[in-house]
Amino acid sequence: MAGNCVILALRFQQIIARLRMFGEIAERLTTDAASGVLTIDLAALAANYRALRARLSPARAAGVVKADAYGLGAARVVPALYEAGCRDFFVAHLGEALRLRPILVADAKLFVLSGLQPGMEAPCADAGIVPVLNSLEQVANWSALARARGVDLPAALQFDTGMSRFGFGPDETERLIADPSRLEGVRLLFLMSHLACADEPDNAQNADQLAAFQRLAAAFPGAELSFANSGGVFLGTDYYGALARAGIALYGGSPTAGVANPMAPVVRLDVPVVQTRTIPAGARVGYGGTHVASREMRLATLAAGYADGLPRHLSDRGAAFLGDTRLPIVGRVSMDSISIDVTALAPDMLKAGSLVEIIGPHQTIEDIAEAAGTISYEILTRLGQRYHRIYR
Ligand SMILES: *Cc1c(COP(=O)(O)O)cnc(C)c1O
Repeated sequence: MAGNCVILALRFQQIIARLRMFGEIAERLTTDAASGVLTIDLAALAANYRALRARLSPARAAGVVKADAYGLGAARVVPALYEAGCRDFFVAHLGEALRLRPILVADAKLFVLSGLQPGMEAPCADAGIVPVLNSLEQVANWSALARARGVDLPAALQFDTGMSRFGFGPDETERLIADPSRLEGVRLLFLMSHLACADEPDNAQNADQLAAFQRLAAAFPGAELSFANSGGVFLGTDYYGALARAGIALYGGSPTAGVANPMAPVVRLDVPVVQTRTIPAGARVGYGGTHVASREMRLATLAAGYADGLPRHLSDRGAAFLGDTRLPIVGRVSMDSISIDVTALAPDMLKAGSLVEIIGPHQTIEDIAEAAGTISYEILTRLGQRYHRIYR
């Protein structure tokens, strides 16, 4: 009996030891086996949503979650926004909406910004997804389905007020207003338009677009309006309408160029060192040998590259950070790696597995975008699938 207890106790210890080992392996898999650790702060996301809503009130704030919630994972972002009170969601394509609809609570609305390709009306209606109709053809097809089914089908109408991209141009707008029967069976939820320069408060195109939108809204008395994106929320109450459509500001991006960013950061990216080495003056670094060491220097090779969404345009331009120390990128960004100059650090400060900051308190998504000659939106949407993702 006592012998059995000893054996059981030993087994138990073995199991605990094994669990601990798996725990350690799992821990190491988060960094050493991935191209980096992408931390997404869902509490900051929710705080950003509430801050925008407070600013907009009594107008409502929708969440724009196209492109997998700007690369951050719609499956996690959408429930967090719903929890924070968001009930209106926008994606670009019907395919995105069809994937999201099952995880979205029924009382939330899901809109497709790019409208519907001909023939996609029935699957859209069947899934309870609302199209943004951008042309008379889209209106005709949606109306035809509604009449065939003998029901009213909800939709928004988008007007082009100066971006020449989506929505009714002046000609189609006139024809729609002249013949309201085109909207038979269409339950109009709101009129929509999109600002081209909302991040530039001094750009005269903002006021021009607002005036154009207000002019055509007069032809649809009582209809609600949706106009502002993130930048528009900071252009003043004239731009709010009934429903603003916020994307980048929710994800911590700056809604207005050239001023302090009022949003809380949501994304942090740390990338592990794979190797370190010392090279002599004259040694070449990376593809093309574009960087020639002007002195002896110490390099660290990082585990992420352009396949992880770190733009090749960061070659010889961007940097990583360890604490406050800026570690410049040297040579070209490769598909799976980047070399950084770590000469400024004491030799034992970085070793294989050490993490350096790519996005975080020392380098915002705007900073890295500027170094790469792009915008924060592109940095986020290209982050890729090889990082270990932690949602907090
Ligand atoms: C992407 C998009 C938005 C969100 O824009 P942000 O600048 O990210 O806030 C809003 N409306 C439309 C039509 C869009 O395409």
